[in-house]
Amino acid sequence: MVKQLAARLGLPSLEPGWVWLAGAGPGDPGLASLHTIHAIADADVILCDALVSRELLKLSRPDAMIVNAGKRGGKPSSSQTAISAQLVSHARKGMRVLRLKGGDPFVFGRGAEEALSLVKAGIPFRIVPGVTAGIGGLAYAGIPATHRDTNQAVTFITGTSVNGHAPALDWPAIAKGSPTIVLYMARRHAREIAANLVAAGRSPHEPAAIVSNASLENQVTTITELARLGDLAPDADAPAILVIGENVRLASGLDWLGALSGRLLNPDPLGRDPLSETA
Ligand code: SAH
Repeated sequence: MVKQLAARLGLPSLEPGWVWLAGAGPGDPGLASLHTIHAIADADVILCDALVSRELLKLSRPDAMIVNAGKRGGKPSSSQTAISAQLVSHARKGMRVLRLKGGDPFVFGRGAEEALSLVKAGIPFRIVPGVTAGIGGLAYAGIPATHRDTNQAVTFITGTSVNGHAPALDWPAIAKGSPTIVLYMARRHAREIAANLVAAGRSPHEPAAIVSNASLENQVTTITELARLGDLAPDADAPAILVIGENVRLASGLDWLGALSGRLLNPDPLGRDPLSETA
């Protein structure tokens, strides 16, 4: 079926000796792109990140080799060099190699590092972007990454840098210049990050949200304020995406998933329409 679709659309196939580095999206298998699904169906070997939906692998060939090559904060994981070496050696054997990553491979996903090791080894490759948690995951909580009335810019930050610490950023510049801040891998250092932002002038009462397991059946959204983020985030289920900014207010109007289970949506979530009945 996917092959028919791909053929009708003239899409490329994962060829022997090639590596595709593909995003699987934040969790809901329906968010994987056609390129990604096409590659899953064709691959001889799939090296899979910890956060990739296992459901998607049902679409792989019965004889495909599935390798768990995941990085997951704090838990044992294959070393990055070992993963890159595997990609190269499988491709050199003439296999069709799919490297499946959660979200988008080029967003805090080490996709660029792996791709550069392929360049170094002279292996042909393709990048298949995916729906990233910081945009698509928030959308599943009814939080738009941008809205012209709340934020005309958004900053994506990793909450954990290479050495495991909170990132050493220019917080005053971020606090001043970025109305909306989206934090990946930030549960552990949420307290420190929130304190930095407040010290740099952000209001402790600014809306903030934590979305755990975004787009999965066990998705949980906690709407709070910046001052409470440090208390709540460390105990939230992983993976969790954090967002700080006025755009979080839109969730009361746009939580479409909540509406499916009976939540009433507020048509004027920013409280700006004097004619709105439910504001
Ligand atoms: N490449 C991925 C990000 C990998 S870093 C992407 O583009 O989404 C891993 C971090 O992504 C997690 O710590 C968490 O902050 C976020 N994340 C990934 N999947 C998520 C999900 N389903 N729900 C909430 N956060 C998620």
